[in-house]
Amino acid sequence: GHRVAASLRGTVGPVDRLHYRRWCPLSGRINRVATISLHTSPLDQPGTGDAGGMNVYVVETAKRLAERGVEVDIFTRATSRALPPVTELAPGVLVRNVVAGPFEELDKGELPRHLCAFTSGVLRTEASYEPGHYDLIHTHYWLSGQAGWAAKQRWGVPLVHSMHTMAKVKNAALAAGDTPEPALRVNGEQQIVDTADHLVANTAKETRELTGLYAADPSRVATVSPGVDLSTFRPESPVIARGTGLLPHRTGPARRRLGLPRDAFVLLFVGRIQPLKAPDVLLRAVAIMLRHDPALRSKLVVAVVGGPSGAGRCRPEELQRLAAELGIADVVRFEPPCPQRELADWYRAADVTVVPSHNESFGLVAVESQACGTPVVAAAVGGLLTAVRDGESGVLVQGHDPADYASVLRRLYAEPGTHLRLARGAVRHAQSFGWDATVDRLLEVYTGATTREAMVKEMAR
Ligand code: UDP
Repeated sequence: GHRVAASLRGTVGPVDRLHYRRWCPLSGRINRVATISLHTSPLDQPGTGDAGGMNVYVVETAKRLAERGVEVDIFTRATSRALPPVTELAPGVLVRNVVAGPFEELDKGELPRHLCAFTSGVLRTEASYEPGHYDLIHTHYWLSGQAGWAAKQRWGVPLVHSMHTMAKVKNAALAAGDTPEPALRVNGEQQIVDTADHLVANTAKETRELTGLYAADPSRVATVSPGVDLSTFRPESPVIARGTGLLPHRTGPARRRLGLPRDAFVLLFVGRIQPLKAPDVLLRAVAIMLRHDPALRSKLVVAVVGGPSGAGRCRPEELQRLAAELGIADVVRFEPPCPQRELADWYRAADVTVVPSHNESFGLVAVESQACGTPVVAAAVGGLLTAVRDGESGVLVQGHDPADYASVLRRLYAEPGTHLRLARGAVRHAQSFGWDATVDRLLEVYTGATTREAMVKEMAR
């Protein structure tokens, strides 16, 4: 008995799981999970608006949970009248479009007003089934956590929560033009930290932020690294993939398909265009590079792939205007967001992906790029410290001075040997991030949470 109790206090690892099974007959199978993603739908195209890494996370983990026999219902808010109440995303994965508020995209700041309607929609769905339909709730982002809180109490099942981003962390690293996150969100996040049975953090740093800034109980926080789809994101050249190859001449089909010259030096930015992601730092760095080496102009291509995000603060048009002001409009190519299969071509065609963000809770783009054999030059912040190995798979830059980015990029252009070493290191580093490993860890967390819940109920009887 006390051995089980002792293991319940800690993070649940693989050994603990076996331990539960042997010692605790209450340890049950998880058949169905209610996943809540209120503010953005798994059906949305990531890379624009509010859709980004979290959407990819929810979709990829749900599909893999279903492959392992755990059905997943993803609750999200219906943003269009045309959406059916239920859509099958993949075998075993349903998207439930809950009617709450107007049928249109809403700013995140508006959504707290519709929380009650959304939550009752979630509760109504469950009430149409036999009791015990869901074994566990996993919520993403604080707004979903609020809905999950009510559902947890109604259904008597554990709540696992992923913050993805945190107001206190975001407010400490605001970009110019960014509005601070309101106290409403800070308080809402605190309530979830205090209520959830388990918190899932993307990195050890996020775990420290949860325990430090939000006083989360360390035994209830698990660090679970997100993943990358290594079958979609892989290098063009199998030689590079084996990590033994020659120079990565990026002359393959990806460049042809995208209409990029074989001898170009291609710099890539991927992601939502918002102050936090700092695409302007890349443009300013490019202007500095061209000032130092005007001959580079005929070789350099900068591709910016992504759509607007946020209330009109940093639109692609503004970036275009900035490129014109800097006198580099002729080398910058703006591309709308695209599905990941196409995105993989952009990574393969690029020489370097640049991620100058002011903060990233993880930075999937950085890992996807590396998985395609393209090193990353990133800001040394947040999850990027985990996503990029400085000097091995890319370069981490302190701060956001464009001159620093320019000098790193010029070095990678001038030193093909360094570039090749980083390209090989990038592929190697990315191999440690697979979604299957993420789902293994999530299942451990889920099992730990349901077992604890069952024991508490048993003790209360
Ligand atoms: N993405 C995409 N198409 C695009 C741009 C981005 O599918 O045109 C995806 C990208 O593959 C990545 C996600 O959007 O998985 C962005 O995640 P990241 O963690 O880099 O940033 P976030 O959006 O979460 O801030």
